[in-house]
Amino acid sequence: MIIAIDGPAASGKGTLAKKVGEHFGLPCLDTGLLYRAVARDVARAGFRLDDVWAAKAAASGLDAASFDDPALRGAAAGDAASIVAKIPEVRAALLAYQRAFAAQPGGAVLDGRDIGTVVCPDADVKLFVTASSEERARRRFLELQAKGDPIGYEAVLADIRARDERDSGRSVAPLKAATDAVLLDTSNLDIEAAFDAAVGSIKRKIGQ
Ligand code: C5P
Repeated sequence: MIIAIDGPAASGKGTLAKKVGEHFGLPCLDTGLLYRAVARDVARAGFRLDDVWAAKAAASGLDAASFDDPALRGAAAGDAASIVAKIPEVRAALLAYQRAFAAQPGGAVLDGRDIGTVVCPDADVKLFVTASSEERARRRFLELQAKGDPIGYEAVLADIRARDERDSGRSVAPLKAATDAVLLDTSNLDIEAAFDAAVGSIKRKIGQ
């Protein structure tokens, strides 16, 4: 069974994907990490993030062993990722890895922006996880505050809105719900309630 989970930044899709994967015994791929790692490698090689040649080279030579690098966490890495993610050559280079992950025996859960629309258009179940930008900013702000980050709520909200615009406005594989995706708005749900709703939708979809 292939489960595609898409949604905007800080919608909670990553946490949901992990929990759904554990629940159904499926491996889970956070595809945002691939774009984050490409941006990291381009910057480390001394190139601009919008350098098509350097970004394509980084995407083609990506090392999955480096995905647990702590430098890939955090808002700055996510912003950088959304710049390389606009480059069609980068997206094309990352496609085979994602599809191979999805094709493993038994299936997989993949979360990202274009899983249901581009990477796995034939996924058994597609979820599109949203929440209002204010709620996503509130969650992100509390997370950062707990880590001692002095950033203010307004700055976090501006960041989220900028990333939404970049992800939804790009010409290749923009962030959007597949026509056959189940929409899950988590604005008024905590993670447990969102998880229950996700599992319920998946079971209904696969007829369990
Ligand atoms: O999900 P995460 O915040 O880690 O993603 C970082 C960035 O990578 C996103 O803002 C988006 O631009 C890009 N991305 C993408 N397609 C995916 C996953 C992430 O374009 N499937």
